Amino acid sequence: MPDFMHADKDNFSSDELIQEEKIRPQSFKEFAGQRKTLDNLEVFVQAAKARGASLDHVLLYGPPGLGKTTLAHIIGNEMAVNVRLTSGPVLDKPGSLAGLLTGLEENDVLFIDEIHRLSPVVEEYLYSAMEDYKIDIMLESGPNARSVQIGLSPFTLIGATTRSGMLTKPLLARFGIQARLEHYSIELLSTIIERSARVLNIPIENEAAIEIARRSRGTPRIANALLRRVRDFAEVKGNGNIDMEIALFSLNSLHVDENGLDEMDNKIMRVMIENFSGKPVGLNALATSIGENSETIEEVYEPFLIQEGYIIRTPRGREATAKAYRHLGLNPPQSNTTSPGNLFE
Ligand code: ADP
Repeated sequence: MPDFMHADKDNFSSDELIQEEKIRPQSFKEFAGQRKTLDNLEVFVQAAKARGASLDHVLLYGPPGLGKTTLAHIIGNEMAVNVRLTSGPVLDKPGSLAGLLTGLEENDVLFIDEIHRLSPVVEEYLYSAMEDYKIDIMLESGPNARSVQIGLSPFTLIGATTRSGMLTKPLLARFGIQARLEHYSIELLSTIIERSARVLNIPIENEAAIEIARRSRGTPRIANALLRRVRDFAEVKGNGNIDMEIALFSLNSLHVDENGLDEMDNKIMRVMIENFSGKPVGLNALATSIGENSETIEEVYEPFLIQEGYIIRTPRGREATAKAYRHLGLNPPQSNTTSPGNLFE
């Protein structure tokens, strides 16, 4: 499985990261899809701007590559403020958080990616910062240790997470605005691909964009990564123009699943069918068999598989549907009606 099929940007080379920055939408208008979330955010941003106040803290959750970081930048642009970026694992000490917070100017945005990975002490610090724009800093240590309170400029914390279920209640409660990002339709993804192609000066035909979109696992980051790889094929094997023929040739050479599913998606379905004979399976049992943690399965993989109808959640566990069997080239069992409750009894 090629690395670019993973929505995780940790697998990107520095050149790809630069290109990703180039094609990142800069305004609400350029951001495709997620209409409900965007409509609400636009109202909240406008209202905050009109009051000259900071926007309320925002929590964005959903699988990787769906636009959380992009939205944080856009909110910063629309508010006309600076955006500082960091992530849960990087903020390992209260001191590093204090340094960032005291550097913020009025109404700035602080974006914390993977906010579910903040350490408990750093999280504690965040509470008073978010609520009262104040932090207590320890000066010196040992017998001379004393704490002083420092006032901060009003700011907006934007937290991003793939696992809202892993956030503590007190932290969740401090986000006045919470939004879940959903996977994108093929139509939206093809619009995103065409826009990226324009920005990067890549000639692409509409049907080729749709074909790439179809194989992008509902994820803009994967769509853009596939576009770049297909461009390589078009430049080396063709005349630089991405038409249907070169798109199909490239996608097949890249072994990209024609439904955009990645290796883990296929493994999940295969294990459900082969190890559990297609019977309902509990999340933990599934996670153990696959060797992945259950939250990742539940929050990164499962939503897309459910949305696309490959698995269903029933009161007795997860089940592979006839579509999953067919996808893996297997015959669905006669009794697999995909209706919850009456299977394999
Ligand atoms: P996340 O933070 O959720 O992992 P990002 O915001 O980094 O995802 O988005 C990944 C890439 O996908 C970005 O480079 C951006 O260009 C593109 N992208 C994401 N959402 C959209 C969108 N709605 N419209 C256009 N491009 C998008």
